[in-house]
Amino acid sequence: VNRICVVPRRKLPYLSLGAVLAGISLTALTNGFFGKALAQNLPAAQVSGEALVLAVDDFENNRSEVRYFVRDEKTGVAHSLQFSGAPPENFRTGARVTARGAQEGDHLNVSGSDVNIEGTGAAGAAGAADLQPSPGTETESSALASSAATTSITNTSSGMVIAQKTIVILVNFRNAAIPCTRLGCSSAVFAAANSVQALYKETSYGHVSYSGTTVGPFTISASNTDACPSPYLPTLDTWAAQADAQATKAGINLTGYTEKVYLLPPTSRCGGFKGYSTIGGSPGMAFVFACQYTDLIAHEMGHNLGMNHSSTPSSEYGDYSDIMGISLLALRDLDAPHRVEFGWLPSAHLRTVTAGGTYTIAPLESNPAVTSLPQALRIYAPSAKAYYYFSFRQPLGYDSVLPKFSSGLYTNGVSVHRWTGSNAHTYFLKGLTDGTSFVDTTNHITVKQVKHAAGGATVSVSLGSATATVAQPSLSFTNETVGAGGAAQTATFSNTGGDAMTIYSVGITGANNQDFQVVSKTCGAVLEAGTSCTVSVRFKPIKSGTRSAFVALATETGTQEVSLTGAGQ
Ligand SMILES: [Zn+2]
Repeated sequence: VNRICVVPRRKLPYLSLGAVLAGISLTALTNGFFGKALAQNLPAAQVSGEALVLAVDDFENNRSEVRYFVRDEKTGVAHSLQFSGAPPENFRTGARVTARGAQEGDHLNVSGSDVNIEGTGAAGAAGAADLQPSPGTETESSALASSAATTSITNTSSGMVIAQKTIVILVNFRNAAIPCTRLGCSSAVFAAANSVQALYKETSYGHVSYSGTTVGPFTISASNTDACPSPYLPTLDTWAAQADAQATKAGINLTGYTEKVYLLPPTSRCGGFKGYSTIGGSPGMAFVFACQYTDLIAHEMGHNLGMNHSSTPSSEYGDYSDIMGISLLALRDLDAPHRVEFGWLPSAHLRTVTAGGTYTIAPLESNPAVTSLPQALRIYAPSAKAYYYFSFRQPLGYDSVLPKFSSGLYTNGVSVHRWTGSNAHTYFLKGLTDGTSFVDTTNHITVKQVKHAAGGATVSVSLGSATATVAQPSLSFTNETVGAGGAAQTATFSNTGGDAMTIYSVGITGANNQDFQVVSKTCGAVLEAGTSCTVSVRFKPIKSGTRSAFVALATETGTQEVSLTGAGQ
């Protein structure tokens, strides 16, 4: 299963196969894989060069594609790879790869073992992992494998400092002009407020900055009714090359940029696809077909930083609390795992929880420099090979729009995300409110929101199997006249584990069980993780002298007892 590409690939018509094939290094062999290719009457092919991972966005139809390419180092042409299974984990933008496969239409059919990846992809990943060492066997490396190798990223003790040098290039089709001005686009990307620049500066706590220029528009030979640029990158490269050539002719120096953002008019032939961006890359490349949406531009430029989508388990773009979720909406900040991806939450502000207890979390929007509280908790879930992240979002800065979404789902309390690390999607799982819990019965994790206010949210965390404990092991009653009943006292039982606990029975046991009476109780059939129940008992001696018994709670984990003593007179 291809875990990144959520939507099955459509069988797309290809265009300009001649152009696609023009630069490929065709190598026919008579054995091994190539023998198989020949047996299928498909030409065997081999291509070496830079790996490219392209995210393709259709927000209106909630569908996304991820496409894999190798840019031939000899010709510069990008060749589409179609993996028969999951692509190799380290097939990332910027890695140097050699792919061997069977050319079929506009793509090379390959399996993971047909692609040789040189060690280049690991350099940046190692840097990220160093910033956020994680326990367990999972790897938590950054999606910035390729771009980390550029001079625009510096690893510091407070996370990655990223200085993107970006050129924004406006493009006209031969029959359609881009519906945005150069000034407007420049402002949308680079201005000090209400811009991509301002958003990433805020959400990275000052770690990300953009510098550069906005040029164009330049008119290319394609029209807005041309076939959709399947398999995307070769055609988009052609369009970019035409725009670049005109920019160069106009005296613009295109060298030295770590990111190139092409803004184009809408096209009528690509369904709802509005953005095509490399995940990472130096230079990262983004193609945006709806320039009037600043959040769309920010989303595509987020892919260039290395991020994947902010999803829910059922929806590709379903996490509205992150700019990498749905677009065409409004600017808003990044979720907790995306900030962890870049190391922007230093260890004091990202608490890895391995024991139950009560924790208070400051709003994620707060600057780590001005709060001593953690801003995210994470708990490892072995069966998911992932961490759960718990963070608290408030309507601050660009997150001021969050209360408008889903009846305050994101700001009424703690957000729960799951993320496996690397360049995987982040998944929003639940928004807690006071008194509600996130429960993972497989991994015995229960996190209950106790309370929240503008300055923070408090949760109680319970881990491990159901565990019954008593608040006090014994209750002593004052002397009572035989036959008379005194004031009740309360025995408290708690489940401090991470699982719900079945209660079989509650009652008075022991030698003198007739001398004590249950007045009231809150213990029922189940005691949820992280909760307590009580049994109120009265001493009503039936004989004189010392009397003793127990309040007993029989549970799936054994029987808990509170001893009772009193004297009848
Ligand atoms: Zn996207």
